[in-house]
Amino acid sequence: MSNDMDLSGKVALVTGSTSGIGLGILRTLAKKGCAVILTGLGDQASIEELVEEVKSLCEGRVSFVPCDMRSRESVHQMCHEISKLYPDGVDILVNNAGINHVTPIDEYPDEKWDEMISIMLSAPFDLIKYFIPCMKKKRWGRIINIASMMGLISQPGKAVYSTAKSGIIGLSRGVALEGAPFGVTCNAVCPGYVYTAVTEPQVRAFQEKEGILTYEEAKNKFFSRAPTGKAVEIEQICDLVLFLCSSGADSMTGSPIVIDGGFTVQ
Ligand code: NAD
Repeated sequence: MSNDMDLSGKVALVTGSTSGIGLGILRTLAKKGCAVILTGLGDQASIEELVEEVKSLCEGRVSFVPCDMRSRESVHQMCHEISKLYPDGVDILVNNAGINHVTPIDEYPDEKWDEMISIMLSAPFDLIKYFIPCMKKKRWGRIINIASMMGLISQPGKAVYSTAKSGIIGLSRGVALEGAPFGVTCNAVCPGYVYTAVTEPQVRAFQEKEGILTYEEAKNKFFSRAPTGKAVEIEQICDLVLFLCSSGADSMTGSPIVIDGGFTVQ
């Protein structure tokens, strides 16, 4: 499937594509011929470097559009900028930007709640609302929301993260129903633990809690809690996203798709 898949002519927006899973997805879509829109936080020099790198994957069809998703105004501004670049909108929207803040609910800072909900729920809502009309018009579209296995289960300290992630699973279901008659699919990918900037502080906290001497040992133990005994790889999520963009996935919509090394069935 994925090896000969051609997405040339398509435009993809991947939020949170300056690092981790989002960057992997951006590179993967660029390699398959998509024009890609890079967005996310980061210093100017590293973003310029990324733009240059991704340019070489997709014959220069990469644009960086800045956006701080804590601000709704900034999200609307990004939509406006994208419309200037691509008046027909985007064909593939990957809502991936995210953060985590692990703290018990009785100590959870109100500002963090607002931030988590803005980035992981309000921004995807705004982007879907803005871009789905163009997808419906073209009678093809792919909306892929990067949720989490924490949208299906939870852990102490993660109530707010789980709220945002189960919210996006619900949003995906409703959007799927509205998009289905128009060839627009919408799914929620639910990864287990992947080693990125989001999990790095969790590994450190785990090391401290368990009194493990080295970071490497803590990392191995942290990820080996999945039945597969290891972390989910970014490339595996990229392959799944690519499959969701293929015609093989035309009938897959509204699903929370779990890719967690068996973590949630334990
Ligand atoms: P990451 O920190 O490497 O990437 C997060 C991305 O979101 C970055 O590009 C960052 O710049 C962007 N971002 C953060 N705050 C932003 C803001 N205010 N405005 C705009 N962009 C912002 O982490 P990751 O692990 O690659 O996370 C990607 C997604 O995957 C997140 O939604 C996360 O919840 C989800 N996820 C991660 C894991 C995991 O184990 N790493 C597991 C399940 C789900």
